[in-house]
Amino acid sequence: MSTKIDSPLIEEFGKIIKSSVFSIVVPHINPDGDAIGACLALNGMLKNMGHKSLVIIPNEFPDFLQWMVGVDDVINFEKSPDVVSQFFRDADTLFCLDFNDFERSEGLKELLSSFSGKRVVVDHHPGPVAPCDLLVSYPSVSSTCELLFRLVEGAGLLRFLDKNCADAIFAGMMTDTGNFSYNASDPETYHIIAKLLEKGIDKDLIHSNVYHTFSEDRWRLFGHSLKEKMVILPQYRTGFISLSKKELDQFNFQPGDTEGLVNYPLMVKGIVFCALFMEKDDLIKLSFRSKGNFSTNDFSRKHFNGGGHINASGGSITIPLEEAVSFFTSLLDDYREELLNCF
Ligand code: 5GP
Ligand code: MN
Repeated sequence: MSTKIDSPLIEEFGKIIKSSVFSIVVPHINPDGDAIGACLALNGMLKNMGHKSLVIIPNEFPDFLQWMVGVDDVINFEKSPDVVSQFFRDADTLFCLDFNDFERSEGLKELLSSFSGKRVVVDHHPGPVAPCDLLVSYPSVSSTCELLFRLVEGAGLLRFLDKNCADAIFAGMMTDTGNFSYNASDPETYHIIAKLLEKGIDKDLIHSNVYHTFSEDRWRLFGHSLKEKMVILPQYRTGFISLSKKELDQFNFQPGDTEGLVNYPLMVKGIVFCALFMEKDDLIKLSFRSKGNFSTNDFSRKHFNGGGHINASGGSITIPLEEAVSFFTSLLDDYREELLNCF
């Protein structure tokens, strides 16, 4: 089934873009390929229209996205909070991309909440709560990048989307769908890819830039995780990997190094639910993935103060790592029926 975007939303998006003079474009905390891709694409497009625009990120983004054109101009709030605060006073339009709750912007939360200009949210996560003038929320769309492309095309602004913007959009669509292996069955996704190819993107090079840039440490961390740390619980069709801070340090952990690692237990035959635990300074960060109709979103919301999509979500808990693992496994009994019947 193809998702259609409501025309009045597209019209309003076009109106706001055209009347904006100085825009700020913001992704969620720990921005991923979709968040950064959407921000760089919109920012590039606004500049091509002759508008002033800046990408402001709550914190650093991973190395495997550093090839994108425009990353050098991105401003990290953590590094320059005062400069960023001034930009928020000067700008007239704010675009929040790939998140729908200001809590997900961490340090930028206050600046987003008190922004006095127009606020636009473009996102594909369920349950939007961010106050804004325009909300474009379609959880069924593969990625925020795809949604952005549809809005831009619908608003008649495609000519402002150059090859660099198209590269960023493709990268977001590719990373948010696991290289088009899930949430990627809408024919429109592939019509858009055709149009991005016509804009000149080098699809194979983008794939290689994103997926073939492991450091040796990163590969060895994957090896260690799979050989020593992956636990498979066939009785719950569940698998998980937990990594302590010491282990992460041992492999010289850099942001983005565990990207994709959470998925490996799902590649074991019969497994439908999996988790990755990572011990941070002050909490345990969790990632969840599932196949079929088992909602990791509900699971992480209920037990780990988190959220996300049905098949991909995350959360956190502030107890020691071993306790977090025991807590997680103790929950599985309550979900046993659901997991065994998952399709
Ligand atoms: P990841 O596991 O790759 O960090 O995140 C997967 C998905 O879950 C993403 O869509 C992300 O936005 C969402 N997510 C990750 N961590 C959290 C969290 O702590 N809270 C909420 N609400 N969503 C999260
Ligand atoms: Mn996304």
